Amino acid sequence: MQNTHEKLEFFVKKCKEIGLKITPQRLAIYEVLLKSYNHPTVEEIYEEVKKMYPYVSLATVYRTLETLEKIGLVKRVCFWGNSARYDANTSEHHHLICKKCGRIEDIDLDQKLSIPENLQGFKTDSYSVNIYGLCPKCQSNQQV
Ligand SMILES: [Zn+2]
Ligand SMILES: [Zn+2]
Repeated sequence: MQNTHEKLEFFVKKCKEIGLKITPQRLAIYEVLLKSYNHPTVEEIYEEVKKMYPYVSLATVYRTLETLEKIGLVKRVCFWGNSARYDANTSEHHHLICKKCGRIEDIDLDQKLSIPENLQGFKTDSYSVNIYGLCPKCQSNQQV
């Protein structure tokens, strides 16, 4: 699954499997998420979708995101003390987070962390690293 089109087709297939009605709004919600790399909040996705479908409700956006999460097409990015942020990049990757403006960027760490298969009784299967700091923009704002 590489491009947006394939991902949308996969979503349609999954919806059929679980008996979910496919609406243009639902597709638009996923499409907005696929096209944004800034890990938007539910509200931000809602604002984007509303530009195309003015009558979409926030509840629909919430429910669609829940469904997308359930079928494994989106991930919720945990973010301290703020609303949940969503990510359509479900491959294993890490995040660079600005503590000031909340910008979240995907990063690839070239160094693999060696996580033991067993940790305190946990069977581990994946990990995700959040690195916090100040983005270039917030750094230059601070100097002024
Ligand atoms: Zn920032
Ligand atoms: Zn991400």
